Amino acid sequence: MLCDDVALHLSAYSAADETSLPLPLRHHLATCLQCQAERAGYRRLHRELRHLRYETVQPDDQLLQDVLDSVRPPATVTPIRPSRRKAYVGGIAAAATAGAAGAFVLVTKLTTKGHRLAG
Ligand SMILES: [Zn+2]
Repeated sequence: MLCDDVALHLSAYSAADETSLPLPLRHHLATCLQCQAERAGYRRLHRELRHLRYETVQPDDQLLQDVLDSVRPPATVTPIRPSRRKAYVGGIAAAATAGAAGAFVLVTKLTTKGHRLAG
């Protein structure tokens, strides 16, 4: 087993003790100081990450608002006048009707085409 092969496995076995390592990996680590050092680094990183699991960070109260302000422009509310509301409802109804008509035409064409192929 080469150092490059060992490097691929070290992170996966960072929490494992020596006896649970695959035998070729264990043999390589017994003789290679470079891979031993890399394994020690992974084990230290794993310990520190495990410790962070129990750390609680209290964010600043303004943080949520700052994040929201940075990802979206400020919203403004514009009331819809009654005359526009009717126009919007009419537009939505027209779009729905056009969609249904398009679907009907498509189904009709597919059905007609199917009959021609069968006959
Ligand atoms: Zn090595």
